[in-house]
Amino acid sequence: MDSLQRGISANQEIRVVSAITTEVVREACQRHQLRGAEAIILGRALTAGCLLATLTKNDDERVRLQLSGDGPLGRMLVDARGNGDVRGCFGDRPQVVPDAIEVDGRTRVGHLVGQSGRMVVTRDLGLEQTYQGVVELATGEIDRDVERYLEESEQLPSLMACEVLLDGNEAVFRAGGILCQTFPEIGRHQLDALRENLHGPGFASLLARDGEPDDLMGFVLRGGAFKSMTGISLQFRCNCGRERALSVVSTLGADDLEQLAEEQEHTEVKCSYCGRGYLLGRDDLLDLAARLRREHN
Ligand SMILES: [Zn+2]
Repeated sequence: MDSLQRGISANQEIRVVSAITTEVVREACQRHQLRGAEAIILGRALTAGCLLATLTKNDDERVRLQLSGDGPLGRMLVDARGNGDVRGCFGDRPQVVPDAIEVDGRTRVGHLVGQSGRMVVTRDLGLEQTYQGVVELATGEIDRDVERYLEESEQLPSLMACEVLLDGNEAVFRAGGILCQTFPEIGRHQLDALRENLHGPGFASLLARDGEPDDLMGFVLRGGAFKSMTGISLQFRCNCGRERALSVVSTLGADDLEQLAEEQEHTEVKCSYCGRGYLLGRDDLLDLAARLRREHN
């Protein structure tokens, strides 16, 4: 089962969060029918979302990651919660997906996401505290851009790596990620010493060997002692439902709803986050139209 672990280095100076997200990414790929480079891109973003949603220990904490890069696979949305639920999808996708490329031992997707564009991160810490930050995309590799977002927008020295490894059929083999942060007063030299290691090929090798979150933590701290705290399980889960589908179609307005009901017996509303379809009947649409008219009078 996928899980996320929080930990802190023995000297209390580096906070680490590590996650195995293989099943989460696999399910997202099944639901949205993604393979190859698409699986890598959305998988990295889902993993980054999970790592970002753990700033507090609050289950209600929520992070929304919205990317709009100028590449063919640059538009995506990820929504992750402190309780380990995560969901995500691409905006639009091209019919033919270009291949990712391999540079210095890492699969690069920056040319597909785009090296220009922006990423908006919305944090909802519960208790009606919301914080939004924006960063310009620089690499399009997802994890490096989130890392930059944390440094620039949240002003926390940070290191992040998220990876998705594919099998021989371009399907998800393993996925996982690590986030390390230190405190502004401690400074970034501590992280600089770990950067080369985390951004090198060793991380993917460890993932391929079926490492657990604790193994990832040990790896990034280069064998340094750390204290591991309680973990949580991660799952692809969407909170959509029939009510939500009704509220989506209600934005059409009463006139269009009535016209739609006249034209077809059933209307399917698809949740873009998880791909699940909701079949609404003629009566559902007419009831909704009537309700809208009542509310407006
Ligand atoms: Zn859904």
